[in-house]
Amino acid sequence: MSSNIVIALAGNPNAGKTTLFNRLTGARQHVGNYPGITVDRKEGLVNYRNIDLTIVDLPGTYSLTAYSVEELVARDFLVNERPEVVINIVDASNLERNLYLTTQFLELGVPLVIALNMIDVAKDRGISVKAEQLESLLGVPVVPIIARSGQGTDELLQRSYEIASSPQTWEPLVISYGDDLDATIMHLVNDIERDQFLTATYPSRFTALKYLENDEQIVAKGRDEHPEIAEDMENDVQQVSEHMVKTLDVYPEAIIADHRYGFLKAILRDGVVTHAFDTDRLYTSDRIDKVTTNRLMGPAIMLLVLFGLYHITFSWSELPVSWMEQLFAMMADTVDRFMAEGPLKSLIISGVIDGVGGVLGFVPLIMLMFFGIAILEDSGYLARVAYMMDRIFRTFGLHGSSVMPFIVSGGIAGGCAVPGVMATRTLRSPKERMATLLTVPFMNCGAKIPVLALLIGAFFTEQKALFMFLFTMLAWVVALFAAKFLRLTFLRGEPTPFVMELPPYRFPTMRGLLIHTWERTWQYIKKAGSVILGISVLLWAMMTYPGLPEEQLASLAEERNHLLQSYPVSVQQELSTNIIVSESARTLQKRVANLDKYQAELELKNSLAGRIGLSFEPVSQLAGFDWRTNISLIGGFAAKEVIVSTLGIAYSMGETDVEEATSLGQRLKKSPNWNRVVAVSVLVFIMFYAPCFVTVICIARESSWRWAAFSMGFNTLFAFGLATLVYQVGMYMGLG
Ligand code: GDP
Ligand code: MG
Repeated sequence: MSSNIVIALAGNPNAGKTTLFNRLTGARQHVGNYPGITVDRKEGLVNYRNIDLTIVDLPGTYSLTAYSVEELVARDFLVNERPEVVINIVDASNLERNLYLTTQFLELGVPLVIALNMIDVAKDRGISVKAEQLESLLGVPVVPIIARSGQGTDELLQRSYEIASSPQTWEPLVISYGDDLDATIMHLVNDIERDQFLTATYPSRFTALKYLENDEQIVAKGRDEHPEIAEDMENDVQQVSEHMVKTLDVYPEAIIADHRYGFLKAILRDGVVTHAFDTDRLYTSDRIDKVTTNRLMGPAIMLLVLFGLYHITFSWSELPVSWMEQLFAMMADTVDRFMAEGPLKSLIISGVIDGVGGVLGFVPLIMLMFFGIAILEDSGYLARVAYMMDRIFRTFGLHGSSVMPFIVSGGIAGGCAVPGVMATRTLRSPKERMATLLTVPFMNCGAKIPVLALLIGAFFTEQKALFMFLFTMLAWVVALFAAKFLRLTFLRGEPTPFVMELPPYRFPTMRGLLIHTWERTWQYIKKAGSVILGISVLLWAMMTYPGLPEEQLASLAEERNHLLQSYPVSVQQELSTNIIVSESARTLQKRVANLDKYQAELELKNSLAGRIGLSFEPVSQLAGFDWRTNISLIGGFAAKEVIVSTLGIAYSMGETDVEEATSLGQRLKKSPNWNRVVAVSVLVFIMFYAPCFVTVICIARESSWRWAAFSMGFNTLFAFGLATLVYQVGMYMGLG
């Protein structure tokens, strides 16, 4: 499948790599504003003149020094896999900063093509860049493009192909770093070449620079592979460092950065970049930010935006959600009418239609919510939220880079903890990372939304948006305090610094919004139709078998016969033909239905799941959960959506009666075991108990099984404690 020509896409976060990647390969991946989500390597194919070229989207980085995982991944890819050409995508509206990484590609010597991206944004800001001039000064092709519209990408491919198909030699650029450093670099290069240290992988000057920049990976390699020389080299670096600190009060790293910027300044003067108007002028973005990130107004606006989002989602989706409910009720009704009684019918009605239907019923709501979130995200507002949260986060022992994992996990609603957990890879401090990783599952991910929507819709019909808002706030408060707790106990340590850049606001395109909304909604639907369906059927089986023993069934049948016989034949006939006219026939019908319900309840109680649910009841009652709810909470560990489908099954068994075909919400409301306090207590438990199965695996992979086990145990105990508190206090205050 993959071709032998490999093109790597590299650049700073937000330079447009993913946009270009999608444009070239046609693959539809998510395009977001947050740095570092694409730590994993993404590959695609692009056809150029009937040749398949492999394109790899590297993680966004600011340098090629191993300060972070991204940088390490990107660098290792370049030197180990030696792509035929690297497309370095730079943001034309922020050229100097972006070219800093470029200097390092040049120093490494990789075959390079520069994609000068976002020339539309630059133009709007009155910035123009002379590509040909830049090309001749840097000595590599420079192609202006607009990744978003695809303008210039043909030429980009053509020039990349030319480089890729010509003979390959890596020609490292040499930049002078001033007398002191240049002398040390010479010494280091001597040692490196004599011992052939990494020379097959890196140019020797590059390795020397990394020594001076204190690159952990390379220093460790040196100690490993060439202990004697490594000591010499470290001594050299030590000496020059001390000297610089004494004379200039800086470390070599800073001098190196200064010289790289100096090199760029030299290139960028002489009219390569021109500004049509005064750069001090506040750009529209900055002016908007004056208000939206203001210390007082900012948070107020943020809360208003959230509240507005929930209000719109709940009120606009009310009607379509009720249509979906009716649709599934009609399906159940039809099956009920035309299928013979038996386990298959029960499987289809209770297991499939009520189970999966309960989850699918919320599709309109989910879609609206995702659409709103896509607007916030694509416009750049979400980055402002992160920016404002940063201050708060630091108070709780988290890091500015923790904000995005929280939002990705469902901080606003409807994310997923799995990418959230992976997004913590951008955190450099292991303790801050662990604290983030363990608390992101507290957010209201997409799977918790149907549960929230169901219970809020049923028990707080009047103030749905308000309660959604309150539960979101609760998630944040709990997550932050849990993080603080962890940082004061198991994960004690110093905070690390963080600088955050605000990307400019952008007008979202309708196409982008629709794609983002659809991608996420489709994932939800797909999950309902596959995983959730499977678990629903499994739980249905656990809730149906082994059924009642023979004798008990016989005695129930006898009781039923007795009941029927005690009425006149005419009444019995009314019942069997289902044309009921007399009062006594109506009474009989009710009594038979009650008997059916009683039997169904006995069957459920005797089932495998029922017995498990019952065995937990003595404890779970402290928090107000009955045994049916217990079944669904256990099922919810597999996937949180399953809670809705399992409640659907547990509260529908034995109630497939047509006239009673009501929604699950109404059934819960009618149940004597449920009230508002129970609803809140159950929600609190669901929000904070063990993360779902997939998240736990993910946590284990990202840290260790011990931490994964910790998160299951700790969260469940904590959630149960909180739910008990809510229930006991709520009932004591008579709110139920
Ligand atoms: P990455 O972090 O390098 O992968 O950057 P993305 O591809 O996620 O792009 C960041 C943002 O810039 C997204 O909102 C893109 O829609 C936007 N973007 C990318 N290229 C262009 C462009 O050429 N013009 C404009 N106006 N926006 C762009
Ligand atoms: Mg990206």
